[in-house]
Amino acid sequence: MLIELSVKTDEREEFIDITARVREAVHQMGLTEGVITVYVPHTTAAVTINENADPDVVHDVLYALDKAFPNDHRFRHTEGNSTAHIKSSVIGTSVQVIVHQGRLVLGTWQGIYFCEFDGPRHRSLFITGLSSAPVA
Ligand code: ZN
Repeated sequence: MLIELSVKTDEREEFIDITARVREAVHQMGLTEGVITVYVPHTTAAVTINENADPDVVHDVLYALDKAFPNDHRFRHTEGNSTAHIKSSVIGTSVQVIVHQGRLVLGTWQGIYFCEFDGPRHRSLFITGLSSAPVA
């Protein structure tokens, strides 16, 4: 089963907590034991797992990415969004999460984030799962 979610972003760069929506998708799939993949089909967006308690962490990650990958006049890509492409590749376009007893196996302070690097836009992401439950 493949589930597509749409995500509307409001800022040029932001992280959106999608944990509750992923949890709902897993419930919809009826997956109780296995692993899911959350995949972002974009070249200037990404998905990651990080702290969901202190919003300053997201701020600091975005700040550090900006420091690590500043815009540069030597970039050739004519769209002018090379840093967004680089950040997408560095963070990555998929994460996997273990599902046990119908629940996402995440740490207490972990959340799943859609990462926008070239918004605002209407985005999508895909979720699919593989079962590791023994066949009855
Ligand atoms: Zn581009």
